[in-house]
Amino acid sequence: MALKYKRILLKFSGEALMGDGDFGLCADTLRKVVKQVKDLRDLGVEVGIVVGGGNIFRGAQIQGSGIQRTTGDHMGMMATVINALALRDVVESLEMKAQVLSAMSIEGISTGFNANLVRKQLAAGEVVIFAAGTGSPFFTTDTAAALRGVEIGADIVLKATKVDGIYTADPHKDPSAERYSELSYDEVIQKNLQVMDMTAFVLCRDHDMPIRVFDMFKDQAVIRIVKGEDEGTLVSSGE
Ligand code: UDP
Repeated sequence: MALKYKRILLKFSGEALMGDGDFGLCADTLRKVVKQVKDLRDLGVEVGIVVGGGNIFRGAQIQGSGIQRTTGDHMGMMATVINALALRDVVESLEMKAQVLSAMSIEGISTGFNANLVRKQLAAGEVVIFAAGTGSPFFTTDTAAALRGVEIGADIVLKATKVDGIYTADPHKDPSAERYSELSYDEVIQKNLQVMDMTAFVLCRDHDMPIRVFDMFKDQAVIRIVKGEDEGTLVSSGE
């Protein structure tokens, strides 16, 4: 079957993995998310994943506590490693091969990032999970998703959220909010829409990397996307 996107960079926020709880990981949610990865792999899509850490810790949280921001960010990046390890095992439990590559070196637990190697691992059908964000404080895992997406030559960055796209207003607060089906990079900036943080967004724009925001828990949504069907909101150059 013809696929529109053959190699994708999937971004999960940490919060997407905590289910109905307000902290940590939910086993059921992890399985649901990974089942979608399995469906993608069964179609032959190459899947790289960047996972966040907000379900455990965010560096900005510690402001005023006496812990330095850089230390907090290191802690946040460690949180993404915890999520990545959990994801890897659940991916493997569904009989897929998986690797965790960490931007911070953690001997015995993960290997480092090497774009050339990753392309080969993806082509060989492995699910590659990128942990520890960019490896530097003051960035986010959205920026890591944009960066890894560009580095591995992904066709698109898919940002999985709890909302099924980008809306004119917050749909939880404003019932008249409408979902955009497509937006250009310039429109996102003009309308001041929150798609990703600016660093991540500009990286995608500068490298003409399309972004699609979608609801990971909507059945078949990600499959529809890789087949080129309309789902969520697409941000691209519009050309
Ligand atoms: N972080 C960082 N550098 C990075 C990526 C993440 O310092 O390149 C830290 C930062 O403290 C961030 C935390 O890790 O708050 C967790 O990442 P993020 O907030 O992006 O997770 P998400 O919101 O996607 O769950």
